[in-house]
Amino acid sequence: MDFEITIIGGSFAGQSAALQLGRARRRVLLIDGGKPRNRFARTSHGFLGQDGQPPSAIMATAASQLARYKTVEQRNGLAMDAVAAEQRFRISLDDGTEVTTGRIILATGVRDHLPELPGLEERWGVSVLHCPYCHGYELDQRPVGVLASSEMAMHHALLLPDWGPATLFMQNAFLPTPEQKAALAARGTAVEPVPVVELLGKSPALEAVRLADGRTVEIAGLFVAPKTEPASDLAGRLGCAFEEGLTGPFVTVDRMQQTSVPSVFAAGDLASAMANATLAAAAGVMAAGGAHYSLIHGIGQ
Ligand SMILES: Cc1cc2nc3c(=O)[nH]c(=O)nc-3n(C[C@H](O)[C@H](O)[C@H](O)COP(=O)(O)OP(=O)(O)OC[C@H]3O[C@@H](n4cnc5c(N)ncnc54)[C@H](O)[C@@H]3O)c2cc1C
Repeated sequence: MDFEITIIGGSFAGQSAALQLGRARRRVLLIDGGKPRNRFARTSHGFLGQDGQPPSAIMATAASQLARYKTVEQRNGLAMDAVAAEQRFRISLDDGTEVTTGRIILATGVRDHLPELPGLEERWGVSVLHCPYCHGYELDQRPVGVLASSEMAMHHALLLPDWGPATLFMQNAFLPTPEQKAALAARGTAVEPVPVVELLGKSPALEAVRLADGRTVEIAGLFVAPKTEPASDLAGRLGCAFEEGLTGPFVTVDRMQQTSVPSVFAAGDLASAMANATLAAAAGVMAAGGAHYSLIHGIGQ
C-alpha cells in the first residue's frame, strides 16, 4: 500500500501529527508499538485538559478521535526498517508487509536507562521520578531527594524545595563547587555525601533510602535523570544526524521538524533535549505542518 505520509510512533507526538494531517485529508499511516515512555506512571500530569488521566486513557481518547478521519489508517505494530527507494520510502513492518510513502514522521520516543540500585527500577514512574513538574505535586510536600548521576542533579536540587524538603544525594557522581553549595543552602537543599545503597518501603511507594554507612533518610520521592537513547534505530538507519543532549543523543531537526534527511521529519522526545507530553504534542503538530508543506511544494523529492 502507498501513503502520502507515514508516521512511525503513535503517542503524544505521532497522534498529534496524524490529527493535523487527517484534518487536511491526507492519506496517512500511523503505526505504533504501544509503549509510550510514561507507561510506568499511573497518571499523567500537566497536559492541558487531561491532567490526572492515565496515559493509556489519553492515548485511547486520541485514537478514537483520530478514527473519525477516514484518510488516517491506524495500525498496531512496529516499523522494522525504512529505505529510500525511487523518490519514496519503503517501510517494512513487523507483520512481514511493506508500505511505501512519500514522507516519514519519526515519533518513536526514547528509552530510559535507570541507575542500578536495589529497589529503584520497580518504583519507576511512581516514587522514583524524572520530573517534578509531572509528579512532584502528588508527593504532597513530603521529603524528596535527588540521586545525582551528573551535573544535572544541581538543576533538580535547586528546583525541588518548591515540592518538599529536599536532599541532594551526591552518589560520588557530582561534587558541588563552593558557589553551588551556597546556592543549595540558600534554597534549603541538604547535601548528603554518603551514597544511597538501597530504597526502602512497600514498593512502589518509597519511605526512605539506606546509605552506605547504615543510616536511613526518610523520603517519599526520589528524582533521577536516566540516560536516554532512541527507542528505535530507524532514524540512524535512515541516516539522520544526531546531537548530544543532557541525557543522551537526539535527532537534529530544524524549526519545521525536518531532519538532515530530505522528506524525513522527527518529533517528540526523539528530537528534543527537553521532554514532556505537551512539548512532544506541539512538535508533532509542527512536523505535520512541515511534512504537509513539503508535499504541497514538492520539496525533498
Ligand atoms: C515515568 C515517566 C512519567 C512521565 N510523566 C509525564 C507526565 O506526567 N507529564 C508529561 O508531560 N510528561 C511525562 N513524561 C514524559 C512523556 O512521557 C514524554 O515526554 C512523552 O511520552 C513523549 O512523547 P513521544 O510521542 O515523543 O514518545 P513516546 O510517548 O515515548 O511514544 C513513542 C511511541 O513510539 C512507539 N514506537 C517506538 N518504536 C517504534 C517502531 N519502530 N514502530 C512503531 N512504533 C514505535 C512506541 O511504542 C511508543 O508508543 C513522563 C516520562 C516518564 C519516563
